[in-house]
Amino acid sequence: MTLVVRTRAELERALTADAPRAGRSGGDVLRGLVMTMGALHAGHIALVDRARQECGVVVVSIFVNPLQFGAGEDLDRYPRTLDADVALLEAAGVDVVYAPDVEAMYPGGEPLVRVAAGELGERLEGAVRPGHFDGMLTVVLKLLQQVHPDVSYFGQKDAQQLALIRRMVFDLDVPARIEAVPIVRDADGLALSSRNIYLSDDDRRAALALSRAMAAGELAASEGASAVRLAALAELGDVQLDYLALVDPGTLLETDDAHEGPALLLVAARFGSTRLIDNTPLVLVPATSKALS
Ligand code: AMP
Repeated sequence: MTLVVRTRAELERALTADAPRAGRSGGDVLRGLVMTMGALHAGHIALVDRARQECGVVVVSIFVNPLQFGAGEDLDRYPRTLDADVALLEAAGVDVVYAPDVEAMYPGGEPLVRVAAGELGERLEGAVRPGHFDGMLTVVLKLLQQVHPDVSYFGQKDAQQLALIRRMVFDLDVPARIEAVPIVRDADGLALSSRNIYLSDDDRRAALALSRAMAAGELAASEGASAVRLAALAELGDVQLDYLALVDPGTLLETDDAHEGPALLLVAARFGSTRLIDNTPLVLVPATSKALS
């Protein structure tokens, strides 16, 4: 049975005395946490399934965090589908759904003290969405403190978010393990996103360029960084790009043709009024080593 709780007090009760199994504080059962903003789809459920496989107690949070939305972004129109979400989570075998409202999450109003994402948070998404990652990390840290999971699962879909959360957990000694789950895509390649419902048929067709660009980039990885960028750009054609970047996965700084090993190809673009992101990890072979061999 899935317990739906709306306040911190209810959450604590669900996680301690009343809980059928204990997790973190009460023995050797692992507690897993999946954080979401709701409007759930198969991408979210992949995180839940992974948590279910590895943890005895699974908690899913649903919270649309105002702190991570900038002025003019889609906070007000972000889809909110709590009943359908709970039904999906019940079917997926989730123990506790934690769905606080803004007042329950920020009882003192906007927090005066926040997590600063630092320079990693100013690149890529952060350059287009100033303050986004400070707001995101602040709520992620709060949820980690409130649920205190052994393991928390995040999608590779939001690659920069994942990198920042890993870094926060490392830098601030947060006692939780962070696990990444690969991107879940529709049959046509489009990465699943709660925002895909905003797309018109034409926008959706155009948006397929993103996953095609990621696939083309992957194929060119053995020819070096410039070849990857060119291959991806060729697929993107005239889409309204915010950025296409091929970066070191740790520093998120652009790679050059001498770069060897893991890299991350990321893209963000607008289709009508909808902004979509996609990415793929790849392993770069330096362009020069090919020429020499
Ligand atoms: P959101 O509700 O968009 O904040 O996403 C909640 C979590 O689900 C984040 O860790 C996302 O990275 C992850 N997620 C969203 N879409 C996908 C997807 N298509 N594949 C894998 N994970 C995803």
